[in-house]
Formats: sequence, C-alpha cells, structure tokens
Amino acid sequence: MKKQAREPFDRSGIPDDLCPIATEYIVLKTGEWRAERPVVDRDRCVKCATCWVYCPTQCIVEKDGWFEADLEICKGCGICAEECPHHAIRMVEEQEE
Ligand code: SF4
Ligand code: SF4
Repeated sequence: MKKQAREPFDRSGIPDDLCPIATEYIVLKTGEWRAERPVVDRDRCVKCATCWVYCPTQCIVEKDGWFEADLEICKGCGICAEECPHHAIRMVEEQEE
C-alpha cells in the first residue's frame, strides 16, 4: 500500500500574470501547530488500514507491521484514534519545547 500524502503542488502550469495569492505555494506543515499526536500500539495494530482511509490529511504511512502518521503533516484531529476498530491508537499531548 502506498503512502497517502500528496506530492507538493506543481506550479509549472500557472501563468506568470496571476496575483501572488494564486501563484505562491507554501507547503503547510500542520504538525507545527498540532496539540496532540497519535501513537500506535504496534501489538494491537492488525494493518486493517481503517486509519489510512479516514485520515483527512492523508498522512498515514504503512510500515512493515503497522501504520503510523507522518507527523509533519498530521494535524492531531484524533479521527484515526476514534475510528481504529482495535483501539490501537491513542492521542497524547504534545510537549512544549
Ligand atoms: S485502524 Fe488501527 S488496527 Fe487498523 S491499521 Fe490503523 S492503527 Fe492499525
Ligand atoms: S490525528 Fe488526524 S491528521 Fe493525524 S493521523 Fe490521525 S486522522 Fe490523520
């Protein structure tokens, strides 16, 4: 199964005379403002991919024996933890630096 996170936007097809708001592309790193992060219990994960299907930012990545979030893109919404049928994901608070 492939990683879901989309490739950055290809701006090569955008005309030069558009307003900068339409032409400047910034990769949003939602992980920078996340309050909680998902932690997967690898012993409970059965690789059903339910979290992969439901994640709204498409940041769930398949590893050898489990799934986990790409924390650069994960926004900490907790949907994966709610939807995991095996209760393998718990949300933990981010610690302040
Ligand atoms: S939904 Fe839960 S059990 Fe299924 S792949 Fe994701 S973490 Fe594993
Ligand atoms: S917390 Fe939200 S954004 Fe992060 S992996 Fe789970 S569903 Fe995706």
